[in-house]
Amino acid sequence: MLGNPVSLIPIAEARQLVLDSVRPLSAETVPLTQAIDRVLAEDVRARSNVPPFACSAMDGYAIQAGESGRRLRVIGESRAGMPTETRLTEGEAIRVSTGAAIPAGASAVIPQEQTEVDDGTVLTLAHTPEAEHVRGAGEDMVEGSVVLDAGTTLGPIELGAAIAAGAPDVTVARRPLVAVLSTGDELREPGEPLGPGEIHNSNATMLSGVATRSGARALEPDHIPDDREQTVAHIGEALRVADVVVLSGGVSVGPHDHVKPALAALGVHERFWGVALQPGKPTWFGVAAGDTLVFGLPGNPVSAVVTFSLFVAPALAALQCGHAPRPPHRHARLGIDIRRNPIREQAVRVSLRAAPDGTLVARPTGAQGSHILSSLLAADALAMVPAGEGSLEAGAVVALEALVR
Ligand code: AMP
Ligand code: MG
Repeated sequence: MLGNPVSLIPIAEARQLVLDSVRPLSAETVPLTQAIDRVLAEDVRARSNVPPFACSAMDGYAIQAGESGRRLRVIGESRAGMPTETRLTEGEAIRVSTGAAIPAGASAVIPQEQTEVDDGTVLTLAHTPEAEHVRGAGEDMVEGSVVLDAGTTLGPIELGAAIAAGAPDVTVARRPLVAVLSTGDELREPGEPLGPGEIHNSNATMLSGVATRSGARALEPDHIPDDREQTVAHIGEALRVADVVVLSGGVSVGPHDHVKPALAALGVHERFWGVALQPGKPTWFGVAAGDTLVFGLPGNPVSAVVTFSLFVAPALAALQCGHAPRPPHRHARLGIDIRRNPIREQAVRVSLRAAPDGTLVARPTGAQGSHILSSLLAADALAMVPAGEGSLEAGAVVALEALVR
């Protein structure tokens, strides 16, 4: 068959070949305010205890633990950010607000609702055990302990935890620089009027977007006409600057598919071409000088996003020593019968919903053609249907793969 790979390798084998080719990027130190979505190259440890000092969990009075019915003299106040120097002894109370340091000599806090205030004194209306309403120093994080492990992706909560831990900055992997190149004479820019036989270039923007979502820095997408010399020139330029080159289309061997011969001419070493995957069969992968990873993704938009999710996203994570994207759940039951492909594993666009009994059910989101972008819109994940004869029946358990989106 002209234009098709001769032999197809399993998805897992293809992914392993990709991961085996990854040389992790160097690390750099960045301010916390600029670290969102970066991957930690080093653990973050607490610089001191968090909270740094014992403090009050309530608005009320710092007192010595004891019985109800005591009348205590109010001798001062400790506010958040303004601790008192005064030491408290028996028979005394110090007014405290939430987060204020517990004054020396106090062992508990009585909330103001459990007191009666009268002329510079408080009457305790409840028994107050030791440490009641006191947040201990280090209760959240202990000085020196690991708060975030290397390999963690820094989301807003991780940044908050790093800041609370006293980190001034974080050491993260350099972001992979990704060049996205779309090929095809038929492609027009978004919104451009279409001539006969032309379509809009959806892959360039989609692939830059999923690369950014995967922690990469995407260069302005480039477009290559179906011409051998220009294909060599454009890919050559991308190889000079990028850590990862992502091509879409032109990866078969038709008269207008120039990607493979161009990559060969540029000395990019092929690791595989052809995966037992639907959609995504003609996926090509190779490595150029300087360990640049080169992916030749199929041109059909769904195939491009699916193969990016399965092969490129794990590579971008591995370049940063991070964790590959995971689907929201690892397995689900099929909601309907799905006809198997005899030789290729299918990545089926599915929505995930809980059945009344709580089990997770995966239902195809619509027609599964590799050109049907609209059925990718509602997809929560990819349900993997193994190759084989006949159908996989409703109720069968399928593995899920993450869809970068
Ligand atoms: P190819 O792999 O170049 O033969 O392309 C396969 C199919 O995907 C063809 O129908 C192309 O028109 C379409 N296609 C290729 N590149 C893009 C793109 N960047 N955006 C949308 N469709 C594309
Ligand atoms: Mg093409």
